[in-house]
Order: sequence, then C-alpha cells, then structure tokens
Amino acid sequence: MDAALYDLSIALKEGEDYSSESRTIEQLKDEYIRLYMELHDKSRLNATQDMKKSGLLNDQRLKALRELAQKIDILPNQVLSEWQRRLDSFITCYQLKREDLQHSATCPHCKFRPKEEASLNQFKLETLEDELGELLNNWTNTLLNNFNDPTIKENIALLRPEQQELVQQFISQKSFSLPIDLRLIQAINDLLKGINKVEITLDQITDMMANGSPLTVEELRRRFEMLIQQTVGNQPTNRIRVMLKK
Ligand SMILES: [Zn+2]
Repeated sequence: MDAALYDLSIALKEGEDYSSESRTIEQLKDEYIRLYMELHDKSRLNATQDMKKSGLLNDQRLKALRELAQKIDILPNQVLSEWQRRLDSFITCYQLKREDLQHSATCPHCKFRPKEEASLNQFKLETLEDELGELLNNWTNTLLNNFNDPTIKENIALLRPEQQELVQQFISQKSFSLPIDLRLIQAINDLLKGINKVEITLDQITDMMANGSPLTVEELRRRFEMLIQQTVGNQPTNRIRVMLKK
C-alpha cells in the first residue's frame, strides 16, 4: 500500500498521467475490503449463530449451573464465569456490506478490528455448548462423590422428609432434573456445610419437666429453653437437628 501511494505522489508531483497508479490503489482497496470482510464474517455471528447464542444464554443447564455456583461454595464458580466471559466475547454483526468499507476502514456497525480480536476464531459456539454440558456433568459428579462420605450419608437422614426424597432421587438418577428444585440445592448445601445431630434423652425431658411436679407455663418455658441451651450451646441453629434418643 505504501509503495503504491508513493508512486502516486510522485506521479502527481511530476504532473504525469497517474491512472495506472490509481488503478493499483483501487485494486489494493478491493483486496483490503475482501480480506476485511472475510475476517469480519469469521469473527462475527450471523443471524443463525446469534440465535444459537441466545439459545445458550437461555439454556436450562446454564441456569442450573448459575444456581449451583451461587449457593454451593465447594463448586469452582470461576470456571462458569470464564465460560460466560467467552460467550460474551461473541459479537453479532451481519450488517456489513462492501459499500460500508468504501469510505471507512472498519465496520461502521461493530467497529471490528482484526488485530485486536485475533484469538477469537479459536472458539466456536458448538465448543461452548459442549463445555456447558460437561460442566454440569462435572459438578453433578463432584456433588455425588461428596455424598459417598459416610458423615454426609448419615446426615441425609436428618433432613426434612421432602428434602430427603429430593436428595435420594438425585443420588439414584445421578443427574439433576431441570430446572433444579431450589429445595434440593438448599438440602445439598445443608449437607455439605455439615449438620450436627443433637440428641435429647427421655431422662433429660423428664428432668426438664421437674419429674412430674406441677410447673407453670412460664417455668416450663424457662426449663425448656435451658435444656436447649445446654444441649445445643452456641452452635448455629440452622445446622442443628434435635432428635429424641429412644
Ligand atoms: Zn460488523
């Protein structure tokens, strides 16, 4: 390009006929437009691909992963953020026409600059879609593996009956039903954070009830609170399940 411009400037200065130089420049411009459009179309999503991107953004699996990342600490949520970042880097533009580049070096619709986006072609939407499925499988397996821990297994019995049912269902089908039931996420969270079982014996209850002596409601309430205080102590109450030891 520089050489052609130089020739043209020389021709202009010397008052020569410069039609051949200007033809060269026209050819270079055509070549630039052709190359630019090729790179542009490779790096931008067309209407069909744009629909695929929207599909991925609304994918139930993505919603499930977001819920899990948000609520369950042990899952590596930066992997999901990275996936999201890559999906966001796909820009849609299918408006560019040859005429747009007659007076502008870049696409007026999306300002595409090939140098700045050189790495973009490596990723394909299909790859991202596969990764989404893999990510959900990996996280599912991580959670299922945790349920092999004997303490966690034991704690399942301490969940509320409907939570137990959801957890058992998840374990037996080895996958999440989508959309994920938020009660299941809560149950998994409770299990992983640890539930402490506190047992109260019948003797302690009898004792609390003053071995059959009459108690005022106020006294009973006070003694009951005291029993809870003695058995539970300062542990966070949401992680405690109190059971009667028979
Ligand atoms: Zn564009």
